[in-house]
Amino acid sequence: MPISLRTQVGIVGAGPAGLVLSHLLHLQGIDSVVVENRSRQYVEERVRAGVLEQGTVDLLVEMGVGERMKREGLIHYGVELRFHGHSHRIDFKDLTGGKGITIYSQHEVVKDLTDARIAAGGQVLFEVEGVSVHDFEGAKPKIRYRKDGQAYELTCDFIGGCDGFHGVCRPSVPEGVLTEYERVYPFGWLGILAEAPPSSEELIYTYHDRGFALLSMRTEQISRLYLQCKPDEEVSLWPDEKIWQELHTRLAAEGWELTEGPILQKGVTRMSSFVAEPMQHGRLFLAGDSAHIVPPTGAKGLNLAVADSRILARALADFYATGRHDLLDGYSQTCLRRVWNVQRFSWLLHRFPDENPFDRRRQLAELDYVTSSRAASQSLAENYVGLAMEW
Ligand SMILES: Cc1cc2nc3c(=O)[nH]c(=O)nc-3n(C[C@H](O)[C@H](O)[C@H](O)COP(=O)(O)OP(=O)(O)OC[C@H]3O[C@@H](n4cnc5c(N)ncnc54)[C@H](O)[C@@H]3O)c2cc1C
Repeated sequence: MPISLRTQVGIVGAGPAGLVLSHLLHLQGIDSVVVENRSRQYVEERVRAGVLEQGTVDLLVEMGVGERMKREGLIHYGVELRFHGHSHRIDFKDLTGGKGITIYSQHEVVKDLTDARIAAGGQVLFEVEGVSVHDFEGAKPKIRYRKDGQAYELTCDFIGGCDGFHGVCRPSVPEGVLTEYERVYPFGWLGILAEAPPSSEELIYTYHDRGFALLSMRTEQISRLYLQCKPDEEVSLWPDEKIWQELHTRLAAEGWELTEGPILQKGVTRMSSFVAEPMQHGRLFLAGDSAHIVPPTGAKGLNLAVADSRILARALADFYATGRHDLLDGYSQTCLRRVWNVQRFSWLLHRFPDENPFDRRRQLAELDYVTSSRAASQSLAENYVGLAMEW
């Protein structure tokens, strides 16, 4: 027999979406339980995103989990776009009225959030097995799982489906309810983490005849670099020297040097976009990657997850305070406006296998426009630092 438990909001997944949701609810006096199928160590060491929008930074600070990020994060007020061997800086500070981005790894955000949840007596259950969600079309949804061999049934008022793209929540929605939109891109990213001081203070996005390249960083000692490659590229065909050589070629610019260092990690990521609509069914609400994924070009996945959870937490708090459910009813529509805008933004700079010389000229003209028109640069800067949370 399963042991019966009860909470107000049951949350599946202790990634950024689940942890932000749980902590925001706690700050509003609402109970939640988070169930996570991986170990705490695994979740806290999973290297993923690293660029935080201004709105994400502000929210983490407001939530009281921003101390370490403020100390250790690197604040950037611009990015470089590089093409034809020339660099063009997009000055965020000037173009957005003082906003910027913060470089601080996703797994550090996850550590800070987990520490805060546990310090506040929050329930984050790691290494649970066989998670399933039930009865969310009615008033008493349930999450079933096993922990240490014992079966549990957690009855709640609402379920937060924060279990990422491969989780169980989205596939549990009955067939025909969700419309899924997908685009698989005909390229991937070969990404490395290198023990090398970043060769630039700011990120460099490069459009090159041989394909896109990105110079990013995690800390003042660790660089993160990417090369556009085939979606099924074999990492074993890329010894370290070949990677550095290709990076040198694609990122080359006059008077600029790329610093090399030992490669700590390398891997190929496929590029795809996905959106499920609506992001709710009954009392099950999807947030973050469980509802949508974006290619990492715009560094938006983590920021979108945080934005969803903020909107959901506010809607739930309003429901518990007033009994009204108009914000909950509008959850999906509110989130999807931002999601589709970000899909639009996570663009450009890549070379497509089927493109012809016309496409290439048009793409270069677009880059020329973005870097020389103030209005176009401003639009890029506004999207990069992140649309206002009210968006
Ligand atoms: C390899 C990789 C690299 C990335 N790099 C970047 C990048 O450079 N820039 C960028 O902006 N974004 C990047 N992203 C995207 C970004 O990391 C995600 O958008 C972000 O993690 C979304 O947060 P989330 O909480 O919605 O989902 P997740 O972080 O995926 O969290 C979901 C959680 O649910 C748990 N879970 C899954 N299934 C179950 C289950 N059945 N039961 C219980 N728990 C479950 C998972 O273990 C996980 O902890 C990357 C993603 C990946 C996969």
